[in-house]
Amino acid sequence: MILIRSANIIDGSGQPAYKADVLIKDDKISAIGNLATKQAEVVIDGLGYNLAPGFIDVNTDSDHYLSLFTNPQQKDFLIQGVTTIIGGHCGSSLAPLIYGSLESIQKWGDINQVNVNWHTVAEFLKILNQIKLGVNFGTLMGHSTIRRALIGEEMRELTESELKVFKYMIQEGMEDGALGLSTGLSYVHAKSASLDEVQSLVEVVAKHEGVYTTHLRDDRDHLVMSIKEAIEIARNTKVKVLISHLRPLVGFEENFKEGLNLLEQAGRELDIHFDGYPFDTSVVPIYTLLPQWAQDGGAEVMLKNIQSKEKRDRLIKEMVYVAGDLIIARAKEAPHLKGKTLTEFAEVQGLGLPEALLKLMELTNLKSVMFYRNISPDMAIDSLLSSSALVASNGAGLPDKADILKHERFYNTFPKFLEIAQKSDKISLEAAIKKITLTPATKFSLAKRGLVKEGNVADLVMFNKNKIVNVLVNGQLAVRDGQLQETLSGKVLKHRD
Ligand SMILES: [Zn+2]
Repeated sequence: MILIRSANIIDGSGQPAYKADVLIKDDKISAIGNLATKQAEVVIDGLGYNLAPGFIDVNTDSDHYLSLFTNPQQKDFLIQGVTTIIGGHCGSSLAPLIYGSLESIQKWGDINQVNVNWHTVAEFLKILNQIKLGVNFGTLMGHSTIRRALIGEEMRELTESELKVFKYMIQEGMEDGALGLSTGLSYVHAKSASLDEVQSLVEVVAKHEGVYTTHLRDDRDHLVMSIKEAIEIARNTKVKVLISHLRPLVGFEENFKEGLNLLEQAGRELDIHFDGYPFDTSVVPIYTLLPQWAQDGGAEVMLKNIQSKEKRDRLIKEMVYVAGDLIIARAKEAPHLKGKTLTEFAEVQGLGLPEALLKLMELTNLKSVMFYRNISPDMAIDSLLSSSALVASNGAGLPDKADILKHERFYNTFPKFLEIAQKSDKISLEAAIKKITLTPATKFSLAKRGLVKEGNVADLVMFNKNKIVNVLVNGQLAVRDGQLQETLSGKVLKHRD
């Protein structure tokens, strides 16, 4: 048993904090109140600290980078107080797989690192359970992952019978414990998906009270239209919607403001949110920096476009938006370039910026990942205080010696958010905590989590200001006195489990 004495409890409900002792037995909160007479093997002095439910990071890439397998402790989440992470976003998930192939995540990870010996969501979750993770993990099903398995590289609408199979797979996945469906509508393999297709798949998710998350078709010129599409899906199907990593991109701030207004209005009658992070940098697969027309047709066609003299000239002319402060975050084929800016690379090569970027794409076979400072920071921070916002790192728990540079948001999103909330007069600390605990737990139907309550699971975080001191995952100390423990007590979470 663990006894936390005299902590300031911010329970996740948004109600005012109160002082109490909390007793943890096995993986549950067994009592809350004045427990002065209780004894326990471990006693933690909570005086002067806040105690809240463990934070829930609703949009992470640990599955995409395959780091659930290569770095199961996921310590970068634990040290920020995160006890649950959700994966399977942006249209790509590790399950279900019809042919046992991970093609749809090759833009993030090296898919040869993992022996893929599962097909269904149930099989995948079972294998994850055997690995033992440091945090809890739940997954969505990726629309592109399934669509690609059904029709390969073809860019077309689905036939009726393909759609039928697709719907069946979604249904089976939901029954297996998936939390919902994600789309990556701006990515190549989802572009030909019509609103009707997405909607008929989402209907299945809605029937199971799952979540639909969407990486929008466009987050620039057509941002507002893309947000309207997500709202329409929410309205027509009554599914719970989460718009993924919605950020005010530099140059498109007005569109963002208009979109946020629409979301806040829609949020009064529908369950619709977006997730965001308090930083100015995107982490993007390099090929997404090509103009749309040059991305269509998959990796092979993209490489051909870059190599053809005529198309290359057109690309160089069009890619005036390429910025010199792009940072090479991962270049497995040319590791010495990791951490270099595009300007540095261009200078060494004696090339202009667009030419240098194309060269880098060729050199790394389109597989590199870039840090792209394309977000308006003040507006991004402000937007997180909106009632429509949830918080997500959109990061991955990577090993320290990873072949990818870690951005601060991978290990400091939640402490940073706490700092922002405590400085702001627009939100109380209780409301800020609710946003990263009970609201996401309810949205994703994570039973008995997100609320400090007797009988609930003991996922807890103790902190002072933005300093995370103790973290419990399923009743076990994963961080103690600021020190990471060896514990791997995370669980695989299933829908409404
Ligand atoms: Zn995305």
